[in-house]
Amino acid sequence: MAVLLIESGPALSDEPRLLGPAQIRQLADELGVRPTKTLGQNFVHDANTVRRIVAESGVGPDDTVLEVGPGLGSLTLALLGVAGRVIAVEIDPVLAGRLPTTITEFAPSRADAFDVITADAMSVSRDDLPAAPTALVANLPYNVAVPVLLHLLSELPSITTALVMVQAEVADRLAAGPGSRTYGVPSVKARYFGTVKRAGAVGRNVFWPEPKVESGLVRVDRTDTHSRDPEIRRRVFAVIDAAFAQRRKTMRSALATWAGGAPEAERRLRAAAIDPSVRGERLDVDDFVRLAAVD
Ligand code: SAM
Repeated sequence: MAVLLIESGPALSDEPRLLGPAQIRQLADELGVRPTKTLGQNFVHDANTVRRIVAESGVGPDDTVLEVGPGLGSLTLALLGVAGRVIAVEIDPVLAGRLPTTITEFAPSRADAFDVITADAMSVSRDDLPAAPTALVANLPYNVAVPVLLHLLSELPSITTALVMVQAEVADRLAAGPGSRTYGVPSVKARYFGTVKRAGAVGRNVFWPEPKVESGLVRVDRTDTHSRDPEIRRRVFAVIDAAFAQRRKTMRSALATWAGGAPEAERRLRAAAIDPSVRGERLDVDDFVRLAAVD
């Protein structure tokens, strides 16, 4: 009779081992971690979910991945299985402090390809990082997901793709197109950088603790259609903010304060070939870029 031997000890290959519910609880107990809502601390304890995020991101050996909020390391380990290098930025010093040990335990052959920086991702710039990242892959802290995503796309032009997990409602808002009910400031600003699309849904039970909301994946592929100049971007973002601050109003009246009066708003709208009676929710990012450029 043929006997099939199944290896059950340590993995034979040098693939990282991934964290399951038992490892997550063990790490949390060891560190005395009490997940906080303020920092959006919901840790993924499902290996299939992190594998899926990594697959959707499309990162490979040539990529230096920036991961925001590595937490206990669930996604970090999966990323180290495929990416050339991973740079993680974690605000919580207790979590950041444990990560190098976790990586050495679960992905010993990849420890050299990993760096962690204890910092607020909202204020990270290129000078804080040991290398220029080519991709952003993250299960973002939900309360700051949009500002973190926009900050990093602005600050780090070397990032060509971003695959982020966010609250489902925020994923819908980011991926919405003009005319849709959910189209708004995050949708237009994200499009300034490139194409934006939903990349799947994620349920609550893959997290510890379980969040009150569903999650979704969003992918941004940088197209570099619009200027990288921070001053130009700031002007475009200011007109987007003004247009959506009063989204029920026509552009002529919504932009009155921004332009210094309704007649001036109308002049600029016409100069940018935009109907002054239209609402902001009908305009795409190209319209806002043209409008911001009118003298
Ligand atoms: N990546 C881990 C996972 O999937 O299990 C944890 C994701 S958890 C949703 C968000 C993580 O972001 C937490 O570890 C939290 O401490 C961290 N965090 C929160 N705000 C942050 C900020 N402004 N900058 C960097 N990290 C932050």
